[in-house]
Amino acid sequence: MQPEQTQSNSPDDHLNWEVNRRRNFAIISHPDAGKTTLTEKLLLYGGAIQEAGAVKAKRAQRSATSDWMAMEQQRGISITSTVLQFQYQKHLLNLLDTPGHQDFSEDTYRTLAAADNAVMLIDAAKGLETQTRKLFEVCRMRQLPIFTFINKLDRPSLSPLELIDEIEQELGLSTYVVNWPIGTGDRFRGVVDRREQKIHLFEKSASQGSKKATDTVIPIGDPRLESLLEPDLYQQLQDDLELLDGVSPELDLEAIHQGQLTPVFFGSAMNNFGVELFLEAFLDYAIAPAPHESDQGEISPTYPEFSGFVFKLQANMDPKHRDRVAFLRVCSGQFEKDMVVTHTRTGKTIRLSRPQKLFAQDRETVEVAYAGDVVGLNNPGSFAIGDTVCMGKPIRYPEIPSFSPELFAFLKNADPTKYKNFNKGVSELQEEGAVQILNSTDESKRDPILAAVGQLQFEVVQFRLINEYGVETRLEILPYSVARWVVGGWETLEKVGRLFNTFIAKDRWDRPVLLFNNQWNLDQNLADHPELKVSPIALPP
Ligand code: GDP
Repeated sequence: MQPEQTQSNSPDDHLNWEVNRRRNFAIISHPDAGKTTLTEKLLLYGGAIQEAGAVKAKRAQRSATSDWMAMEQQRGISITSTVLQFQYQKHLLNLLDTPGHQDFSEDTYRTLAAADNAVMLIDAAKGLETQTRKLFEVCRMRQLPIFTFINKLDRPSLSPLELIDEIEQELGLSTYVVNWPIGTGDRFRGVVDRREQKIHLFEKSASQGSKKATDTVIPIGDPRLESLLEPDLYQQLQDDLELLDGVSPELDLEAIHQGQLTPVFFGSAMNNFGVELFLEAFLDYAIAPAPHESDQGEISPTYPEFSGFVFKLQANMDPKHRDRVAFLRVCSGQFEKDMVVTHTRTGKTIRLSRPQKLFAQDRETVEVAYAGDVVGLNNPGSFAIGDTVCMGKPIRYPEIPSFSPELFAFLKNADPTKYKNFNKGVSELQEEGAVQILNSTDESKRDPILAAVGQLQFEVVQFRLINEYGVETRLEILPYSVARWVVGGWETLEKVGRLFNTFIAKDRWDRPVLLFNNQWNLDQNLADHPELKVSPIALPP
């Protein structure tokens, strides 16, 4: 279906209309929960692809990470899938891709800085898993509205009540059940849609869900239901419905928009089951592009001057074409191809050339874009993560925080005659945000420490140092897994005195960062030194 055309020709009305029809979101999940599958099904319903399968090719290519060829390929592919734009009814959706586990890196966190809504995808057999918890914390910090899709109900699952309880207790997030499953695994019979008071009966998809499903739908009180369900499931359903009406709070849109209440959906992405129900409710409840804080106060998405910020940089690994792409989240006004803007950090004017919208293997040139959209820009090295570009009065959006790294290694330059290239490469990759760099406080240890949230970041740094700077490096892995910034800096640290089993490093702004072997070690030190306050997130000074 085509979106409704705007009736008015006024630029303000047009901008309002463009912003209000947009919904931007990211999916957070643990590997294998079904993110690729769900993405594909959303695209299928959005009419962006005719048959599911297009996104799957990506999965096949993802499996071999250590092979450099595969990695280049993978990088190429992750460039092209940074944002998927598709239409559903009168809405335009922007799905921001948060890379999966092999390429888990700071990009995954940063992408959430560009998202307005998050979909938390959970495997019904496993419940909450580590990566989902980590990403959830970032969503909470940003107060993103969170929508929960519990997947794979066609497989043996935890009990739905257990799953809900886990979200409530462990994440401290209230739930609003939108649809509820009838049976699970081999006895999965469908879901009750509490919005419409209808039952959607489940049929296993013959085509593994490659085509849109047509559900059989009957009203909740329909007498046929009793004969359609096994007696115990029928009884269970009656009990569950009564329970849900008692415990699930009223729909409170404001609480959803503040990230305090999560609408919950059950389904099977592989079988296309529950996907459309989800999409329709999501579009009703999700927020349109919201105002962003800046140093000049809150900037509304319909503020007529264009503005946006860079949240991700990507360099193509092909040494012959060093094309670098900066991903820009549009926050206000109308983006236009080739517009000349102010780059707030440097005060320079820049032409935004070769803007690209990326979908599957195709790169399409973007002519215009609005708040909530993501545009890939040609980056000849002018952009760093968090940079603001704008028209009119210069404004600056806040920097994107760095998240606590979990992997550490000394980076050794194998050829000391190339120290200049080595230093240049390390500093440029740090600027670009490919990895965090720490330094030892011990003067005799000059090698920089790479600090990453995912293994792939190490590989990328080493690979790019060879390819782009001609320097061979070695890694000496360090035995730490937890990093904390000291609140109050060196002064506090001096007062605290000796810490047990702790490595003290400096970040790029010379602030102390404590590295611990594990969480237990950190807790022990905190218990021994009540005056020591630490933070897992570092904001630029
Ligand atoms: P990702 O790692 O989160 O992107 O997960 P994938 O989408 O690649 O899915 C992981 C595996 O789970 C694949 O084998 C999928 O076919 C399977 N899968 C995804 N959704 C469902 C579902 O609803 N039911 C079942 N039985 N399997 C599913």
